[in-house]
Amino acid sequence: MYWCQYRYSLKNTKMKISNLLFIASIILIMSCKPQTGNPLLGKFNTPFEAPPFDLIKTSHYIPALEEAIRVHEQEIDAIVNEAAAPGFENTILAFDRSGDLIERVSKIFYGLNGANTNDSMQEAAKEITAMMAAHRNSIRFNQELFARIQTVYQSRLESGFDKEQLRLVEKIYDDFARNGAALPEDQRNELKKINERMSAISLQLSQNLLAENNGFRLVIDREEDLAGLPERVVAAAREEAAGAGLEGKWVFTLAKPSWIPFLQFSERRELREQIYSAYTMRGNNNNEYDNKELFIELMLLREQMAEMLGYENYSDYFTSDQMAGTPAKIYEFLYKVWEPSLKRAKSERDDMQAIIDRRGEDFELAPADWWYYAEIVRNEKYDLREEAIKPYLAIDNVREGIFDLTKQLYGLSYVERNDVPVYHQEVEAYEVIDHDGSLLGLLYIDPHPRPGKRSGAWCGTYRGGAWREGERIVPIVTIVMNFSRPSGNTPALLSWDETLTYFHEFGHSLHNLFAMGRYDRTSRSVPRDFVELPSQILENWAAHPKVLKTYARHYESGEPMPDELIEKLQNSKYFNQGFENAEYLAAAILDMDWHTATLTAQTDVNEFEKQSMDRIGLIPEIIPRYRTTNFGHIFGSGYASGYYVYQWAGVLDADAFRAFEESGNLYNPELAEKFRKYILAGNGIWEGMEAYTLFRGHEPSIDPFLESKGLK
Ligand SMILES: [Zn+2]
Repeated sequence: MYWCQYRYSLKNTKMKISNLLFIASIILIMSCKPQTGNPLLGKFNTPFEAPPFDLIKTSHYIPALEEAIRVHEQEIDAIVNEAAAPGFENTILAFDRSGDLIERVSKIFYGLNGANTNDSMQEAAKEITAMMAAHRNSIRFNQELFARIQTVYQSRLESGFDKEQLRLVEKIYDDFARNGAALPEDQRNELKKINERMSAISLQLSQNLLAENNGFRLVIDREEDLAGLPERVVAAAREEAAGAGLEGKWVFTLAKPSWIPFLQFSERRELREQIYSAYTMRGNNNNEYDNKELFIELMLLREQMAEMLGYENYSDYFTSDQMAGTPAKIYEFLYKVWEPSLKRAKSERDDMQAIIDRRGEDFELAPADWWYYAEIVRNEKYDLREEAIKPYLAIDNVREGIFDLTKQLYGLSYVERNDVPVYHQEVEAYEVIDHDGSLLGLLYIDPHPRPGKRSGAWCGTYRGGAWREGERIVPIVTIVMNFSRPSGNTPALLSWDETLTYFHEFGHSLHNLFAMGRYDRTSRSVPRDFVELPSQILENWAAHPKVLKTYARHYESGEPMPDELIEKLQNSKYFNQGFENAEYLAAAILDMDWHTATLTAQTDVNEFEKQSMDRIGLIPEIIPRYRTTNFGHIFGSGYASGYYVYQWAGVLDADAFRAFEESGNLYNPELAEKFRKYILAGNGIWEGMEAYTLFRGHEPSIDPFLESKGLK
């Protein structure tokens, strides 16, 4: 499964949160008697055997999951109790194919809980998440199961396995080993305790951060303190105030849609400073929500865990199954981008200081001033108005542009299906047909916001592609967005960022649709630093003048976007890139430093952070995008030592797209075929860097990325 985990775009600070689905192995042996009346358990009598959304009620999930867990336990027992010696078929393959029913039920549940939830779903989610965690742990720590897997693993090199089989054996073994299954019992027990403590700390850190987020508000009661703010920003602040029972006042909060416009437009320098300082100091105020001590405890536990598992430090542990491979490789990469980013940031700072001096304002640019003066630079140099672009980006035109792009590259075609059940009337269902006429999969597109839909945009699956009995089970993929709605007779007109998001999520969907590996574990999961390549690369086509000309047509006149507008759009890519990259990279390096350092309980968080930033020469006008005590990405285990992945993917997509540009044909069929084979379809067989090199002929170069950001 590939999805957007916190998709991060350097162009803005939006996050895209993913489906958090259980990465498990899987099957479709519904041998057990289906419980009558529960539509989740029987055969789906629908086109493509798509989920019968119209029949499923919230009350069906928990009983279905109980049954699914029972079936999965039987499947695991059958592997463990197998009389024959452990081998590929009876252990590895059997494990890979177990759990299909759980996957079916949980995917539908979590998919809908993200896209179309309600109170009863959210209530059920608590119980379901606990059931899933308990079940997952019972498998992770099943020593008899692990012993069989280990036996196959130990003789894997003499067993005559092909490359794909070998990789499956190694991945499954690693999944267990990375959880401590290979340790002696006392250490396993210790590790369990460490894990429990780490989860508790992660949760506490996040809750503290939430409390700090909610604990601050900037209340304005004098109209003159709104100077400079656009009407929409003032209106939002008035609403915020009304919601807080402060009628007639204006409230700004530490949510990004509130504080960022305030910093961009407020003419009150001391108020800008006040809100930004509150933002950067979250978790660092020596109050009941202070995160410093807990953070150090978490770092020490991670270090201890990594060492128990035979790694040098946590970063070494995390990166060992990523495309980057080692912390050294990540540092090398980050420093390469850091230098030109810092250089550019310094020149942006100088430009802004010159504006301050020119206006006769007698002060030095401070971190809280950056957004305000960047806006002035934007108006002077880049002059791109969103309202001028939107009429060219009607939602149907953008979708047709994407369909056309995938037709040009891969020969795909799409047939809208009105006979497939959907969970909301706005969801569109498309049958996706491959170049040879075969069925590739089913795709849902769910474009607009509504109550019950999480914010952001993501791609998920209701059924992963798989092979069973030599037959292809086609995937059912969904992309979910929160795009502007149509209004009156005007169709939904997308912003530029929404347009890029549409292409982006579509890229993830192609990755799901094309995955052809024989085994679930290896075909469906990809390293975190690889997963955004298929999505981000499509953004390059979206923004290319030649491609824009094909789809960006005025919704009334049908005229293509004028060259002048396209040029402005191209230039806008370079706006504020020194800052954007430096601010991001500073946080990414801080993350790496924490997860490679040797710490003690006495380590001082602020001092550590200062030394880390001094080492790389961060200028005082910039504060890392996240400071340690509010770095939510690295509290949970997900992005710990992994904040680099966003820009890593940026380098990959820029370099991969360069291949098409260099060939002189943006739709180069041979390149498209290779990209499909190695990058989109090949997860089952090749590791990230190997796959990339097979596509590109060499490892990715950083230059196309730097050039695309105007950093070189
Ligand atoms: Zn993504």
